[in-house]
Parts: sequence; structure tokens; C-alpha cells
Amino acid sequence: MSTEAQIAYRNELIAAGLLHATDVDGLYAQSGAFEEIIMRFNALVTRTGAVDGPEVLRFPPGMPRGTLERSGYLRSFPQLAGTIHSFAGGDVEHAALIAALERGDDWTGGQKATGIAFTPAACYPSYTIVAKRGPLPADGALLDVQSWCFRHEPSLDPARLQLFRMREHVRVGTPQQVLEFRERWLKRGRAIMESMGVPLDIDVANDPFFGRAGRMLAANQRDQALKFELLVPITSTEKPTACLSFNYHQDHLGQAFGLRLADGTVAHTACVGFGLERIVLALLRHHGFDPKAWPDSVRHALWT
Ligand code: AMP
Ligand code: ZN
Repeated sequence: MSTEAQIAYRNELIAAGLLHATDVDGLYAQSGAFEEIIMRFNALVTRTGAVDGPEVLRFPPGMPRGTLERSGYLRSFPQLAGTIHSFAGGDVEHAALIAALERGDDWTGGQKATGIAFTPAACYPSYTIVAKRGPLPADGALLDVQSWCFRHEPSLDPARLQLFRMREHVRVGTPQQVLEFRERWLKRGRAIMESMGVPLDIDVANDPFFGRAGRMLAANQRDQALKFELLVPITSTEKPTACLSFNYHQDHLGQAFGLRLADGTVAHTACVGFGLERIVLALLRHHGFDPKAWPDSVRHALWT
């Protein structure tokens, strides 16, 4: 359910031409001004992470269906996953498709799943790439990734999109290496967002695991402090919005993708994810719709 405040902010963004709505909730075109803030913020993340020399990977919005299957996403979040389907028939099926379209009926029934699934989190496709290289070197792997991500959660909250961009840094290595990485990014994420001049809080969090079994998974994730979120109020101070998340997957993804350390044991993984649209929405909310009028300190951090 979207709140009145969320709908009001959405309307303001659309009226200002920052977002262009479509017939589908949570699917927008973004303006040049919106895109420029994303690019500037992205550059700030790049500058911050560059000292560690990460390998850069930029992904399209889709990944192999097998990567989705292996990741465990369908077990935990079947309600959010999306797969790409396409027409695969001959003349007869084509005629049926056209007829259904002309009648205004559902024409999608004959579509077959392709080998591509939408990417739900930017780090997933990187694990397959790292695993294919064989056992990790002693210093593990460090990646700077970005992807368009799909999650089927239609909403009128402008901060809850179905297609959005996630920028991540990803660490694969020993438990000590990945936990040290997460600590470092907790500090860096806070510093970056403090330099953005927005109110923020960091708290333990859990993912929206599906179903009854999911409640236990969520409780376990919280108890073990496996996920933290950096929250910024956008349309509510009581329920601030998660703009960054800091995840420790233990060896789950290492097991799932066959990530091995040099000694043959299963690697651990962690990632920090920046929700780029949410960060822009937080900046526009707190500093106004005209970036030229933003506080000097924020402009300095972004326009350098
Ligand atoms: P998560 O894997 O759920 O922790 O997501 C990583 C980051 O992506 C979050 O901290 C959000 O900033 C962003 N994000 C997640 N879901 C959405 C969504 N539906 N719309 C926009 N941004 C999102
Ligand atoms: Zn991730």
C-alpha cells in the first residue's frame, strides 16, 4: 500500500518533469536532470572505491536463467523474480497471437521462457564470472558492479521501482576479508551520505523472504546481523527508506556458485549496494528540485 505522502511526492516529481510515468506502476522514464545526478553520484562512489582497485563490471538488465536458479532467489523471493519470455511458435501460433491481440485477449500464453532472467541484484551475475576463473588468489576478489535490476513489486511509491539501477561493490574471499570489507563500506557509505547532507541512520535489517519459512530466515538474518541498511527519510520520518544495504551472505552464495578459496574451501561473500534512484529521490526531497540551488557542500561533493 502506498501512502498519501508517497503519492504526493510522486505527483510532484512527475509535474516537475523529473520522472515520466507509464501505464505500469514502478516503471518510469527519467529526465536528463535526474540522470545527471545519478552520474555524479556514481562518480563519487567510483572515487571512493577506486583506492582499493576493484575490477569493474557493468551488466545488462538480464542474466542467464541458470544464474537465477543457482542463486537461491526463487526459494527466497519467488514473488519478486522475473523471467524473459518470447514467441517461439510457427505460422499457426502467430495467427493465434495476432487474433488474440485484435480481440483484446491475453496474447502472452504462447510465449516460452528464454534463457534470460531479469537480474534481481547487481552482484549475482558477477559470482558466475568469478567462479569460472577457478580458485581465488590469496587476496580474493573485489568488484565494482552495476546493473539495472527488476523486482516485481508494483507501487505508487516513487522509491519502489520495478526496474531500477543498483551500484555495488562486491567482495569474495575469507570470512575475515569479507567482514573487513563490509566494515570499511559501512564507514564509507555513511561518510558518502553524510556528505550528501541528508539525515540518515544505519540499522540491522532483513530481506522480504517469502512465506512462512521466510519468517524464520528473516529473523535469523537479523539475529546474526547479516544485513544492515542505511536509511534516509524520503516520504516518512517514521519509516525511512533503505538507500544502501550492506550484506554478508556467509558462504551461501559461495556454495551456490562454487566459489573456492585457494585451499579449496568455500569462499564467503559480502556486498554493499547503492539504490541509485532512491539516493536521487532523497537528494531531491531534502535539497529541492533544482540542483544548482543545493547546499555548496553537496554540490562540491558531487560536481568535482
Ligand atoms: P537489497 O538487495 O534489497 O538490499 O537492495 C539493494 C538496494 O537497492 C537497496 O538498499 C535499495 O536502495 C535499492 N532497492 C531495492 N529495491 C528497490 C526498489 N524496488 N526500487 C528502488 N530501489 C530499490
Ligand atoms: Zn549484492
